Amino acid sequence: MSAHGFRQASIAKLNEPGLGDKVHKATLHTTHGRDRLVESMPDWDSLRHRAREARLRALDHHDALLETFMRALKARGIGLSLAKTPTEACEIITDLVNATGKKVIKSKSMTSEEINLNHALEQAGAQVTETDLGELIVQLAEQAPSHVTAPAIHLSTEDIARIFRDKLGMQVPAWIDDPALVDDQTRNRLARDLSLTARKHLRERFLQADVGISGANFLVAETGTVVLLENEGNILLTTALPKRHIVLAGVDKLIETEKDLGVLLRLLPVSATAQRQSCYVSLLADAHPDMHVVLLDHGRSKLMADTQLRDVLTCIRCGACMNVCPVYRNVGGHAYGAAYPGPIGALLMPHLEGMDRFGDLPFASSLCGACTQACPVQIPLHDHLLTMRARIVQKGGPDSLRWPLRLASSAMHKASRMDRGTRLYPLVRKFAALHPTGKAWLESRTLPPPAKESFRRWWQRQHVDRPATDTSESWKKSAMTEKASAPEPVDSPDDLLPLFQQRMLELGPENTSEIQLFDAALVAEEYLRIRMEEHDPHTIAIQGETTEKREYTLGITRAEMLIADTGGVLVDMRDRSQGHPIMLAETHIVVARPSQIVPTVAHALVARSVKRKSGAWGDYQVLVTGPSRTADVEKVLVIPAHGPRKLVVVLCEEPVDLSSLRKPPEANRDAVDR
Ligand code: SF4
Repeated sequence: MSAHGFRQASIAKLNEPGLGDKVHKATLHTTHGRDRLVESMPDWDSLRHRAREARLRALDHHDALLETFMRALKARGIGLSLAKTPTEACEIITDLVNATGKKVIKSKSMTSEEINLNHALEQAGAQVTETDLGELIVQLAEQAPSHVTAPAIHLSTEDIARIFRDKLGMQVPAWIDDPALVDDQTRNRLARDLSLTARKHLRERFLQADVGISGANFLVAETGTVVLLENEGNILLTTALPKRHIVLAGVDKLIETEKDLGVLLRLLPVSATAQRQSCYVSLLADAHPDMHVVLLDHGRSKLMADTQLRDVLTCIRCGACMNVCPVYRNVGGHAYGAAYPGPIGALLMPHLEGMDRFGDLPFASSLCGACTQACPVQIPLHDHLLTMRARIVQKGGPDSLRWPLRLASSAMHKASRMDRGTRLYPLVRKFAALHPTGKAWLESRTLPPPAKESFRRWWQRQHVDRPATDTSESWKKSAMTEKASAPEPVDSPDDLLPLFQQRMLELGPENTSEIQLFDAALVAEEYLRIRMEEHDPHTIAIQGETTEKREYTLGITRAEMLIADTGGVLVDMRDRSQGHPIMLAETHIVVARPSQIVPTVAHALVARSVKRKSGAWGDYQVLVTGPSRTADVEKVLVIPAHGPRKLVVVLCEEPVDLSSLRKPPEANRDAVDR
């Protein structure tokens, strides 16, 4: 986008029928959900603070962390390349793909959007399939994603139905041309059909792919772990099924320790998708026989050296700043013409691609500060936007803003001038459009009517005219109400089982999550055998057995840990071939003991480090939180996406022997009797 391209693009987007409504509806949905969760987390602010510290520490020690991470990968035989520019990164990945096969599946990666990877791969003759539903939709529509976590946020159910009809041959109802004819339930049913059509369309592609390309949410230096969060199950399949796995990530994704990861994993899903935890968190620290990590710089090292703005690189790409931004909500992501839209894009893009191209984006903000308040890693986004503007203005541009800004600065420096300015405002408002600068300004804005009372006068009434006791009394009252409604923290191990049950069952509406409690192992095993009788034995995958690359209807695994505050289970898959049968199964049964429940994911990660060091666990774990899901079509929740449609947790006081499940029950009883 050329300089000042945002203004023209945003005017066009403001005039696009229905766009603002679609983006508002989706962003408000996520923001309200996030706010509700934040209210139930008494340690939210302290988590944000700790996350910021962790991310800043990672920047401070970046070179050392990079070295540690590289050493860890080398020890496992994983390839690593450093790419300075998008062109270099595309060349490295294209060579890796060409050496393996043409069929490429990709999970969502904003870094790949940043370097325009799909285009480079397709030019080299590869067939690239996006596997995240939102990404697939925009790929079929030949558009770019318009949000970092919800790529198709700008499209309605009807828009997507037309795309699927034209590109996938899906039969769609005639009412899509007149949606006013139907109720919400009918539209939601179509959203569900669209998601299931995508599942069917992608299933064969997963099984036949030569190369899987993923991004990374975090790279843990101390353990060389690649961490990936998702809801659909497509990342698990992308990283497990193809022969070669390529990870593409910015060098800023490095964090120091698993402890830091524990903090970030509690913040990211809440901020990104209003969930306590994403459905699947893959922790990849295994010696995959054909894995390559490509780390991209693309201006990040230079930004790291900028003492004022370096914390822009602490961003964890949750998208919360976009969801609350009044500019983004009205114009959507495409107006920015950038891989990263919204407030973070306005800061990042000029550094990645240069001021000439994106120097107008820091002005695409009302500076209301909502982004700063929403940011889980406490980046002072609106302050930084102001800093960027100051730098741009100091360099001499944009001209049209120079004298209005001087005027505003002069007024704001003296109360009497500000007062006069306030009184003159109704006149300015009336005649602003007569001046060329005012006219241009008003093309995409309206000046609000003058307030009935000035802020100074209001302040005077509230804080000077009113007796001091009023304020303190009302403060005391509101503090007491706040205290009364504050949720109790989890502080006793006895609380954990009921909390785990409650949180786990919340994850699966319409009977898609289930818990079974048993005292005796024989009874639990009998229950599992009864569940197995509902399936063809050849379509059942049990952890520990050799499995093939095909579809299964039932997957049974152990869980090593259960997370009380999210209702999640940590499964030690050991190696990736164990992951796909379970992920392709229609139902996933997890077997564990109640004593394995821990309060939070942070506790589970500490235990994971110890167990891995002692050799008790393997190097590939997946944190599973509910059945697979998507909400990429107008935020309508659809279960399943690519993974199981049902998750059953079997809790038994005694250890259950999974290897005995294929044997007739009599054989086990005889063994016990003897
Ligand atoms: S800047 Fe903050 S709110 Fe915006 S995407 Fe990054 S982490 Fe999220």
